[in-house]
Amino acid sequence: MNPYEVFLTQLDGAAQVLNLSKHVTRVLREPERVIEVSIPVRMDDGTVQVFKGWRSEHNTALGPAKGGIRYHWDVTRDEVVALSAWMSMKNALLDLPYGGGKGGVRVNPKELSDGELERLSRGFVDRVYKYIGPDQDIPAPDVYTNPKIMAWMMDEYEKLVGKKAPGVITGKPLILGGSKGRGYATAIGGFFVLREALKMNSTSFEGKTAAIQGFGNAGSFMGKFLYENSTKVIAVSDSKGGIYNPNGLPILEVIDHKRRTGSVVNFPNAENITNEELLTMDVDILAPAALEGVVTGKNADQVRAKYIVELANGPVTPEADEILYKKGVFILPDILANAGGVTVSYFEWVQNRMGYYWEESEVVEKLDKKMSKAFKEIYDVMEEYGVNSRKASYIVALRRIVEALKARGVA
Ligand code: GLU
Repeated sequence: MNPYEVFLTQLDGAAQVLNLSKHVTRVLREPERVIEVSIPVRMDDGTVQVFKGWRSEHNTALGPAKGGIRYHWDVTRDEVVALSAWMSMKNALLDLPYGGGKGGVRVNPKELSDGELERLSRGFVDRVYKYIGPDQDIPAPDVYTNPKIMAWMMDEYEKLVGKKAPGVITGKPLILGGSKGRGYATAIGGFFVLREALKMNSTSFEGKTAAIQGFGNAGSFMGKFLYENSTKVIAVSDSKGGIYNPNGLPILEVIDHKRRTGSVVNFPNAENITNEELLTMDVDILAPAALEGVVTGKNADQVRAKYIVELANGPVTPEADEILYKKGVFILPDILANAGGVTVSYFEWVQNRMGYYWEESEVVEKLDKKMSKAFKEIYDVMEEYGVNSRKASYIVALRRIVEALKARGVA
């Protein structure tokens, strides 16, 4: 199943429960607009390489499209469209005044010099600047993109439109209008909803064990928060492989090791493991924080975690969902679990528009409120309709999108 088919399956499941009309689902099955670009980049050796990229705006009934841009060697059009549809759901679930968008460039950013990366990032904006903007479509970081890249993109956009426009992009460096707390927002948002789920089961982080797949922005900060809250993180991994220590990993040292060597593997006092092994470890909490489609019909049966907190987008396939829910696993679905990132992006955009900046504690407090509220809404729908957490999250999101579509007279 490609990621877009996964989205359609999830959409149909929730649409059925809500008894949505065919008109509405017909609208939501298609992205509103997909821009395909090719970006010529002058490489350091004087040659020219051409990179393919996309920006997909799935649905903008609730507001301007919003979502990150990823740089990855495997990016496809279908994947970007699916990710934009998931952003529509995520933004609606968190009650943000946004539709869903996503961008992607097919490139291995690790093979590019800083100069090449800058020319590529500016080149992407040159191709799409007419379609993005603070009231149109607002990009942000995603897999293998970061504040530095956002700064280049904003700068390029501002040059092209001839005015300052910090609200065109979020996840910027603080000095250029970024928000305090945005750096760790995805992870702490996931941490907050996991706390709520544990609370529902009358338990806490104390003495739990966890495994984290992916050690980028979301995964490494999640490791830190769990570690600081008395959960033993016994395994972590990145694209090169994983490490395991049954007594718990000293996460801050692992972060440092990755910074120095480029990977978590070969960390002293830990056993090297594979990414596949990590997913089926005997832990309380599993946090997939890398890419989509890692827990599937093939390995879901072997998953032993009691809680899955989906920091990645789309890490669990629909076949895996069925198996996991039957086993009684509590899944914190991606559109909830990783929504802390886009929620603080929203706060950043609001601050940019006001030109007035908040303290870090204010950002985190507001984020906690929003995440906890979305968790509660999902929990109530689970009870009301007797559905699993994924379906419930889609139901909460779809209700808002459908109301907006109806109010606009679209469907
Ligand atoms: N890329 C992140 C996501 O998938 C953040 C998007 C944003 O901040 O707009 O939710």
